[in-house]
Amino acid sequence: MIVTKFGGTSVGNAERIKQVARLVWERRERGPVVVVSALGGVTSRLLDTITSAAARDDVARAAHLSSLRELHLAAVDGLGLSSSRRERARNAVLQGLGAIDDATCGMLLLGEQTPRASDAVAAMGELLSHVLVALALEEIGADAVAVDPRLVMRTDARHGSAEPDRAALAELTLHHLAPHVAAGRIPVTGGYVGATEDGVTTTLGRGGSDYSASLLGAALGAEEVQIWTDVPGMMTADPRVVRNARTLQRVSFAEAAELAYFGARVLHPATIRPAVERCIPVHVLDTFHPELGGTIVDDEGDDAPDARVRAVAWRKGIAMMSIGSPRMLGSHGFLARVFDVFGRHETAVDVVTTSEVSISVTVDQVQRLDAIQQDLSAFCEARIERGRALVCLVGRGLLESPRLVSDVLATLDPIPLRMFCLGSSDINLTFVVDESNAEEVVQRLHARFLESA
Ligand code: ADP
Ligand code: ASP
Ligand code: MG
Repeated sequence: MIVTKFGGTSVGNAERIKQVARLVWERRERGPVVVVSALGGVTSRLLDTITSAAARDDVARAAHLSSLRELHLAAVDGLGLSSSRRERARNAVLQGLGAIDDATCGMLLLGEQTPRASDAVAAMGELLSHVLVALALEEIGADAVAVDPRLVMRTDARHGSAEPDRAALAELTLHHLAPHVAAGRIPVTGGYVGATEDGVTTTLGRGGSDYSASLLGAALGAEEVQIWTDVPGMMTADPRVVRNARTLQRVSFAEAAELAYFGARVLHPATIRPAVERCIPVHVLDTFHPELGGTIVDDEGDDAPDARVRAVAWRKGIAMMSIGSPRMLGSHGFLARVFDVFGRHETAVDVVTTSEVSISVTVDQVQRLDAIQQDLSAFCEARIERGRALVCLVGRGLLESPRLVSDVLATLDPIPLRMFCLGSSDINLTFVVDESNAEEVVQRLHARFLESA
């Protein structure tokens, strides 16, 4: 059994959905379970619809609704389905759009959005796309069955970034997915979407379909999780920023996890964890160039023994907080108090550097930052700097590369670098730059460490 996940661009229109159906059909001997994202751009459009409704902008809300309707109906028409399947597809789309209309009408009246209602709307992209993909598969002769992700992906009720209940998931996949595969059918479900025990719709966070795929792969004990996307694999940098980026043929779980965590959007950061637990290889592939072979992520990775930089990743929208207090000098328990404040506000800290009298941290969930600053002000001073980016060189044996740091500094001179961190593991070197310099930093690092060799 394999899990094959197709991202938004891969199912962006009717032609692409047909291509996806062909790719799945070609792999039918391997027992595919298919996970799909919403049609490209749909989740963002749904979130815009919610924002417009809550802002009582009915003109914008109606415009978003009609573009969602057109996009989905054009996809249905382009699939060339038999008349009964076309009818089923159109009904699903019209019903889904009706639900979005109802939910956002409520938001419009109240002038507010609740997390629960927002998730019901945000989930609609995948709730529609998986039905269309299942019908496209049926059309080419596959015995495909659409499986509502809410039957399988049991989560907690943290709307917008729900956490799956792994024990329930294992049981639910046995009921709702495994029997189909055993009977030679191809189940197709939506990523990103789940439901609580009470059946309330939840979502896993942006880009979460990759995470759905690896969770399902782990629950089913799949032999491989395939992530089909719009680039040839995990690359030495984001090809949209670095034109000479190359595809990495094989990377370790640890390297892939660092890359994903530090902004290589090609994999959602949580994707690797379930795969590592069950030691399931993750194969990143290009939907538009399947012949290219992609990237294999597994526990060994590339077996090249030499220490070297393998890729560069970056993440924008980071805030830095510098926290200082003369009382920190020589005292104990100060860091614990600081982190306790972040903990109480459920805000994760990414990178930390510290001196005798101050510490700096980076945070990418910035919603609670002002409240955190307020709480910290009870016992220290905290300064926030927004608009920063984290840049991360990922490689192996980086601690053993004697000139790495001097090379990085020389390559980037005179761009100011902050919070330089090497040493917490030998597979990453991280620092903070101003967002406006981030692309240039990534390009220069790529040219120096990944193009010259
Ligand atoms: P999907 O919709 O298939 O999930 P995403 O847009 O989420 O696709 O992720 C694919 C995108 O990730 C690529 O188009 C590329 O711009 C971006 N990306 C960022 N860093 C990397 C990297 N190191 N390797 C490959 N792609 C990357
Ligand atoms: N459709 C969701 C998003 O755009 C999930 C995904 O594509 O992975 O964030
Ligand atoms: Mg993605």
